[in-house]
Amino acid sequence: MIKVAKFGGSSVADASQFQKVREIVKADPDRKFVVVSASGKRCKGDNKITDLLLLVNAHIQYGVDCTALLATIEQRFMDIALELGLDFPLAEEFMSLVNDIDKFTPEYVVSRGEWFTAKLMAEYLGMPFVDAADVIVFHHDGTVDMERTQTKLREAVIHSGGTFVLPGFYGSTVDGQIKLFKRGGGDITGAILARCIDAALYENWTDVSGFLAADPRVVENPRGIHRITFEEMRELSYMGASVLQEEAIFPVREVNIPIQIKNTNAPDEFGTIIRETANEHAREHLITGIAGKKDFVGIYVQKAHMSNEIGCIRNALSILERYGVSVEHIPTGVDSFSIVVNGEDVKDTIYSIVADMQRDLQPDSINVLPGLALISVVGRNMSRRAGTSGQIFGALGEAGINIRMITQSSQEISIIVGVQNEDFEKAIRVIYNRFGDAVVIRDR
Ligand code: ASP
Repeated sequence: MIKVAKFGGSSVADASQFQKVREIVKADPDRKFVVVSASGKRCKGDNKITDLLLLVNAHIQYGVDCTALLATIEQRFMDIALELGLDFPLAEEFMSLVNDIDKFTPEYVVSRGEWFTAKLMAEYLGMPFVDAADVIVFHHDGTVDMERTQTKLREAVIHSGGTFVLPGFYGSTVDGQIKLFKRGGGDITGAILARCIDAALYENWTDVSGFLAADPRVVENPRGIHRITFEEMRELSYMGASVLQEEAIFPVREVNIPIQIKNTNAPDEFGTIIRETANEHAREHLITGIAGKKDFVGIYVQKAHMSNEIGCIRNALSILERYGVSVEHIPTGVDSFSIVVNGEDVKDTIYSIVADMQRDLQPDSINVLPGLALISVVGRNMSRRAGTSGQIFGALGEAGINIRMITQSSQEISIIVGVQNEDFEKAIRVIYNRFGDAVVIRDR
């Protein structure tokens, strides 16, 4: 069994984090491939190496001397190398970067964060180093050439004897120009590697023990989510409960490789496994997780005999399209409908939007209701099971919380309720306390 273990910036922030990584890697002989981010923050208020390198580029761009900044970056790596007794010729390598710093492209400069971190990690783990520039191949438009990448990675597996350390976040075009992924893109490198070498598991080591069933700032001590499907994760991330970059998922999702989120600082905790289906366990939670966001705006449009009129909703939507506003939900009644949008998206344009709707739709009334919070109750086990929504609404009703809007996703894996901003935290607590730990026996 092959596992790809990707360690994020905080997991490789200093020598003591390197030690944890080594213990984790050595604890499981299946962890043959390691991907690292650039060293991240060692503590609150500290800086990520990637941010410092971006700052180097800004200095160069504006012609400001960055000697001191480069020295700070070098010292970060030096501290790790000295404390761990590594032989890597850091001073020399850093010197060749510094000497020609203004000749390199900005992307090359930023990529050195992962390069140095991976070099040090490879020596510390006693594993070969493979340069991402040689194996992660980009098209000129910035997308990954998966075919070429797969060939290169498989060759690298053979040449390295079936184990290596790979820097995340960058690759290069066929003519050797360094390209970066989006910020946090080390997760993508890990997923690409896992896919290209047919790994059985993609481990993503970070500083949290995976997804929680609710936001710990709202619910005290929520339980962790052990198993989640990609679809459920998408629902929760969309509502703000984000642990992993969305784009990081597609390479492994397409070929059904599970991802396990693990905590470098608490490796014994199970974390969260994300996979396409999660039905191997008969006893599961009814609700996988609850997430939500505040500050949506509802635009309520009412017009007598609208039900006989064709194109009314389309007109309203094309007005929003003209303003570049994306629509979250459209609950409809017989002679009315409402459109829920993100408050931030319409903060400067709502009056013009309403005026356009008055003109084009000729409604009896339009009301704008700001301060709407949406709460998404997500769970694959809710689907085709009677009574869950009834219980959610019942619990909110008993707590005196007025529900402003209700929708359910078509696969029945999420129920979304809209409440006033003021009721947001209370509503989440009420739902969590009623169902957070509820368990169901899954019919197989
Ligand atoms: N080092 C890069 C960043 O800070 C990429 C990563 O950490 O995944 O965004």
